[in-house]
Amino acid sequence: MIEIQNVRKSFGQMEVLKGIDLTVAKGEVLTVIGGSGSGKSTLLTCINGLEPIDSGRILVDGTEVHAKSTNLNKLRQKIGIVFQQWNAFPHLTVLENVTLAPRKVLGMSKGEAEAIAEKQLRHVGLGDKLKTFPTRLSGGQQQRMAIARALAMSPDYMLFDEVTSALDPQLVGEVLETLKMLAEEGMTMICVTHEMAFARDVSNRVAYFHKGVMAEIGAPEQIFGAPQEEVTRQFLASVR
Ligand code: ATP
Ligand code: MG
Repeated sequence: MIEIQNVRKSFGQMEVLKGIDLTVAKGEVLTVIGGSGSGKSTLLTCINGLEPIDSGRILVDGTEVHAKSTNLNKLRQKIGIVFQQWNAFPHLTVLENVTLAPRKVLGMSKGEAEAIAEKQLRHVGLGDKLKTFPTRLSGGQQQRMAIARALAMSPDYMLFDEVTSALDPQLVGEVLETLKMLAEEGMTMICVTHEMAFARDVSNRVAYFHKGVMAEIGAPEQIFGAPQEEVTRQFLASVR
């Protein structure tokens, strides 16, 4: 479970998270939507401890992310994160790229790491690309490699930050299908996305962020069918 309790976060004078309260249960798929600069990416980077927070608490399975006593490297192994773009090591094959973290961080043997990497690459549909170099992959394949790389650490949570935004439109579908598959398998996920159809179809709940505030959260039917807040209505009208 991820518990976010009254979290505030500023960059300089600008407060970008203004007291966020949010709990994500095990197995839940939460999508986060909202305009540019509303704090969506910052929320994700705070959850896995990449960014410090000013006040409040974030707990992952009861461990306080920003507590001094927390072993952040250990905690981060539980939380996979995939961004818009990930620069793979161009001189390593796809398989080698995915084995790196299990070897270096988890201390797995080459054989063990390769077995897991291969399994996850097959899982995301890249079983025939193991020996390929990343620059030879399409954008959609590169994103699926990035997802396999995160999955190779056996995370309990996955955070996705607009993983399809940099893709050509015809490549978006294959990556969303991969996310949908993970969701159906029961992975606990927070997906920041501009793909409203995906948010509607795949998520258990949708959160709408507006200027650092979680203006509204609810089931997809509510958010898309009967939003309670005027700001949500305006946002949805602007993206339709
Ligand atoms: P987008 O949809 O454009 O990705 P977002 O909702 O993800 O937007 P954030 O990236 O969380 O928004 O940014 C929230 C605000 O914080 C923005 O005004 C942004 O410029 C600012 N910001 C984000 N990261 C930093 C940083 N490292 N230093 C200073 N300001 C930052
Ligand atoms: Mg962002």
